[in-house]
Amino acid sequence: MARQERPPGGPDQRGMNRQQVVEVIRNAGQIARIDIAQKTGVSPATVTAITSDLIGAGLIEEVASDEARTSGGRGRPRVALRVRGAAHLVAGVKVSFGTLSLVLIDFEGTTIVEHDAELSGPRLAPDVLSRDILRGLDAITAKIGRVTADISGLGVGLAGTINAPEGFVHWSPSLTERNVQLRDMLEALLPMPVFLDNDANLVAKAEQLFGEARGVSDFIVVTIEQGVGMGIVIDGQIYRGTRGCGAEFGHIKVHLDGALCRCGQRGCLEAYVSDYALLREADVSLPVAAGPSRSERLEALFSAAHAGDHTAETILDRASRMFAMGLANIVNIFDPKLIILSGERMSRDFLYSDDVISAMRDEVVQVDAPPPEVKIHKWGDSMWAKGAAAYAMEGVTELAVRRLAIDA
Ligand SMILES: [Zn+2]
Repeated sequence: MARQERPPGGPDQRGMNRQQVVEVIRNAGQIARIDIAQKTGVSPATVTAITSDLIGAGLIEEVASDEARTSGGRGRPRVALRVRGAAHLVAGVKVSFGTLSLVLIDFEGTTIVEHDAELSGPRLAPDVLSRDILRGLDAITAKIGRVTADISGLGVGLAGTINAPEGFVHWSPSLTERNVQLRDMLEALLPMPVFLDNDANLVAKAEQLFGEARGVSDFIVVTIEQGVGMGIVIDGQIYRGTRGCGAEFGHIKVHLDGALCRCGQRGCLEAYVSDYALLREADVSLPVAAGPSRSERLEALFSAAHAGDHTAETILDRASRMFAMGLANIVNIFDPKLIILSGERMSRDFLYSDDVISAMRDEVVQVDAPPPEVKIHKWGDSMWAKGAAAYAMEGVTELAVRRLAIDA
């Protein structure tokens, strides 16, 4: 479906209730109507009407509840509802440095297949990136005997400053141009609606739906890749700021007139903890860090620190303490219930260490109540893509529910 075919306007109350009911069923796996009413605050009569519409549209289906099956079948079997997985095929793509990670999920959120593809380069013109994404979708759908046109919605996550509601990229390290209306470009090329967001926000979405933050309404995800990113969830919703420029954890200032950051300013957290910051220090003072590639030089730095090299240790130690200070600043502002440190590489262990977490705890405002819980969640690129797919699934649900209202 091309963008111009999106139903106009926002959802009405009935539409919002329908969408909420689908989300509650999806989160529960399976759930009885009476429990949906209790969880949503929607009246049982309205829940019955809504679920009947959703069953009619093929979005959900009735099943005998697990409870009925395990209780030996006494009395009338309890009927539960579940989301119909086959209703929609949804794709997620994470754009990384030179590579694409793709995933297809069904409408229940179950992963069907994953695929990794090479990009034409680390930084691309928007039309080249769009064609690379199309090629990736053709390849992943071919793996399961489907075609790209079978996909109901595509979520795309990339690093940078992105206005998600507008599908607009202010800046991304993956693109050679600034100020790109990327969602519209993708929708002109692809046969499905596209949902675009900052990759750290999509990790927050994945943590909320599949990960460590299920059932938590206020939490913060800090992502550690080449740089550091952040996703803020308040009252169950991702907080994006007015221009989509919020949650720039990597560019909070931790030092007045400090080290130069690749954003052009000084004293940013990223200028102390990112790959390039560590290498900048290592290149000055640590001959073992000399090597042909960036990742080899980093590995050399990490192994030197492990082997007890004092200079290497001080480089990682300073980065850890800066990182702990950044985390403490977040806690002092947001006071979240939970902070998730989310990343994929074991080599960043110095940022996940107990020392970092206890340093953070020492620097937060002290009250007679337990500090926020900190969870460490290491996962791979496929989970970033799954977050993108989860975001698209919400969008596909909203569109399906709106179409239901128009057809009614
Ligand atoms: Zn910066």
